[in-house]
Amino acid sequence: MNAVPQSRKLRLATTSLAGCFGCHMAFLDIDERLLELLERVEFDRSPLTDIKTCGPCDIGLVEGGICNAENIHVLQEFRRNCKVLIAIGACAVNGGLPAQRNHLDLGRCLQEVYLTGPGIVNGQVPNDPELPLPLDKVHPIHEIVRIDYFIPGCPPSGDAIWKFLTDLLDGRTPRLGHPLLHFD
Ligand code: SF4
Repeated sequence: MNAVPQSRKLRLATTSLAGCFGCHMAFLDIDERLLELLERVEFDRSPLTDIKTCGPCDIGLVEGGICNAENIHVLQEFRRNCKVLIAIGACAVNGGLPAQRNHLDLGRCLQEVYLTGPGIVNGQVPNDPELPLPLDKVHPIHEIVRIDYFIPGCPPSGDAIWKFLTDLLDGRTPRLGHPLLHFD
């Protein structure tokens, strides 16, 4: 079991890769329990903070699958720095709905969106080197790095996230029984 001992405030990092931020919204659905959580953890890199890179952390929560080179970079940064890394939501667990593009040809998708789609005049596929290159397929994050825990759901409920985190913070193996465990 990857339990997290707590004699100090723990550091928690979160990120959204090929996600929709819905899992972060579900995280915020713990509502006033967020105040209780803040008694026990402090945030590192997260869409909720202004910290740009992930430092040494106890827990990392990753929303979204892997769809481009930048996602791989961020995921590897999280794996290097987080003792316990958690895939949160269907996209991180199995690619989710964005992986529906996996049976399509990426080049043809880009052409349709940027060149031939309705209403496009003089379109161009974006080619600025600042932009991360898309991957041919969308991948679940466990295909790139080792993951310690998976929380299914699109998104998981705030109650499920709270149960999972408090189990972990209290040194218990996280367990989501019915009805907290769902996949939709
Ligand atoms: S699992 Fe659902 S809610 Fe979470 S990032 Fe993916 S699409 Fe959004």
